[in-house]
Amino acid sequence: ETESTDEFDDVRQVQPVHPFESRTKSTLEKLQEERKTLPVYSYRDELLQAVEKHQVLVIVGETGSGKTTQIPQYLHEAGYTKRGKIGCTQPRRVAALSVAARVSQEMCVKLGHEVGYSIRFEDCTSEKTVLKYMTDGMLLREFLGEPDLASYSVLMVDEAHERTLSTDILFGLVKDIARFRSDFKLLISSATLDAKKFSEYFDFAPIFHFPGRRYPVDVVYTKEPQADYLDAAIVTALQIHVTEAPGDILVFLTGQEEIEMAAEVLKHRTRGLGTKIGELVICPIYANLPTELQAKVFEPTPLGARKVVLATNIAETSLTIDGIKYVIDPGFCKTKSYNPRTGMESLQVTPISKASARQRAGRSGRTGPGKCFRLYTAYNHQHDLDDNTIPEIQRTNLANVILMLKSLGIHDLLHFDFMDPPPTEALIKALELLFALAALNKYGELTKVGRRMAEFPLDPMLSKMIVASDKYKCSDEVISIAAMLSVGNSIFHRPKEKQVHADNAQLNFQTGNVGDHIALLNIYNTWKEVNYSTQWCYENFVQVRSMKRARDIRDQLERLLERVEIEITSNPADLVSIKKAIASGFFPHVARLLKNACYRRIKHPQTAYLHPSSGLAQVSPKCVLYHEMVLTTKEYMRNVTEIEPKWLAEIAPHYYQLKDVKDSGSKKMPRCQTTSTEYCI
Ligand code: ADP
Ligand code: MG
Repeated sequence: ETESTDEFDDVRQVQPVHPFESRTKSTLEKLQEERKTLPVYSYRDELLQAVEKHQVLVIVGETGSGKTTQIPQYLHEAGYTKRGKIGCTQPRRVAALSVAARVSQEMCVKLGHEVGYSIRFEDCTSEKTVLKYMTDGMLLREFLGEPDLASYSVLMVDEAHERTLSTDILFGLVKDIARFRSDFKLLISSATLDAKKFSEYFDFAPIFHFPGRRYPVDVVYTKEPQADYLDAAIVTALQIHVTEAPGDILVFLTGQEEIEMAAEVLKHRTRGLGTKIGELVICPIYANLPTELQAKVFEPTPLGARKVVLATNIAETSLTIDGIKYVIDPGFCKTKSYNPRTGMESLQVTPISKASARQRAGRSGRTGPGKCFRLYTAYNHQHDLDDNTIPEIQRTNLANVILMLKSLGIHDLLHFDFMDPPPTEALIKALELLFALAALNKYGELTKVGRRMAEFPLDPMLSKMIVASDKYKCSDEVISIAAMLSVGNSIFHRPKEKQVHADNAQLNFQTGNVGDHIALLNIYNTWKEVNYSTQWCYENFVQVRSMKRARDIRDQLERLLERVEIEITSNPADLVSIKKAIASGFFPHVARLLKNACYRRIKHPQTAYLHPSSGLAQVSPKCVLYHEMVLTTKEYMRNVTEIEPKWLAEIAPHYYQLKDVKDSGSKKMPRCQTTSTEYCI
């Protein structure tokens, strides 16, 4: 009975099909009714007056009260879009996409028309777009083309409390815009905000606080600390399902792997529960989940069944799922940490903050009294959790944003208006890297190479590799490799029953121990030769979805090459040139075999191993270049290629001296060299 009206059918063919798009008049009316029940609705006029009166406004309201979906619509209805777009930033891609989809549905427009979204490598907007949801990182990139955001009348920096690196940098930039563009409105919004701190930062902007609906939440702790929180979470979910009153469950886990594992175990264990117990509908949600599956968490739970949502942090404040009555909070999340000394970034499972724990518990009390099961002790909560999460800017690699700021003409980084400044050591490290990559000269000024690099929405080492491919006449190959690397580690499909087959298929692309980068290139090129065949992907245990994404990314990189005036050149047989281009970006990531499969980075007293997934894992070449270092049980280098040390003297003579790269079995620890260049920060 949910048939769509004809007027949408013609555009559907050209626009990306989106799961939220089928609609009828009655569902539309229902949506309009629903809009009016949201807490923010009663503050609509007051809010519009406040925006009219003040240039900058800090907005605080409970998660789920309608900030993200409603406020931009109110402003649109009030006419703000007559003189420019309304932008709304989100720290997460999934949130930007799903909220845009929801709003387009509420406004009864095609997603990508009046309401659109922009996330990295995916621009779903058009000339018509007046409400634009986007990741904070994408807006940051827009500054490169439009430093005063002239096409925007209002900007809402949403989920400000998340304090992502991009959001923090945006703060400094938009604060400046507000000062010289009197027609520009700036909203800083969030669920839990240290509102005073934000208000002070934005020259004492007024705070608009509207109360949400909140029911009491019963918080229970475990008596003992849990050794295996994943298992404890699964057991708790099953217990709730069997013993507690109706209501859906939300479980906070740390990542895709955990979520998939939990889903599998839950599926298995509910089979044995018998017919008296209702069905348990298992809904995973995490950033990399395919869009059509993401929509599933928002579908109403069938009568008599119970839904269990297995989510990452994304469900903490970015997404609101209706009907949740029980929350299971193991107390962990994945956070990025960065060691400026080694330059190593890692994602680690760490305890959450008290503020996060409070948010998580609150998710259960939105539509009625709720219950939150904390899988840690009350003592742990009181004594071991920090009050707030440390802002990302203080625990991450800054090379990317510094390159961006330099391209925006912001040279004096020490005096940039940071809400919380990054550690000086991290700033210096980033400048050193950009200097080594020749993106900056010794005065800290952007070079031509740096200017080109900044055009690519990639990490500086990847953009450098692309820019350098011009010299080695293999840009065609190198952008394919960059695209494949950007997809992440989801190229291969490795089903449990067929692991041996899958591994063999993978090895086919490694013939001649060409290394992981070239293997990725081989996969891409072979797929292209068979006309992007889906069947081929199945046969070779390659994920179709990842390959399509790689193709999209590659298309964009190709367009960017044109923009920076680099010709497409191809040299498929000359693997040495391709590897040298890669090394031009990744020379700081070179390690030599020490003994017994143990490697040591040149110029860094750090040891590491080849990741078991690497095609070179059984070969142990003498000297390798790696894409990234991951820390699991050991420090592993992932995506590696063998190189010759002597190339380093040719590619990066300023970085490596002859003694670093001589082919000797030197047992001495290479000393960390300090550079004498002065940096303008
Ligand atoms: P806030 O930003 O204040 O946390 P939102 O504007 O995101 O609140 O959400 C308001 C309401 O809209 C939610 O309570 C939820 O019911 C609904 N909603 C939001 N996004 C979606 C979606 N993608 N699908 C279905 N409902 C949604
Ligand atoms: Mg929101």
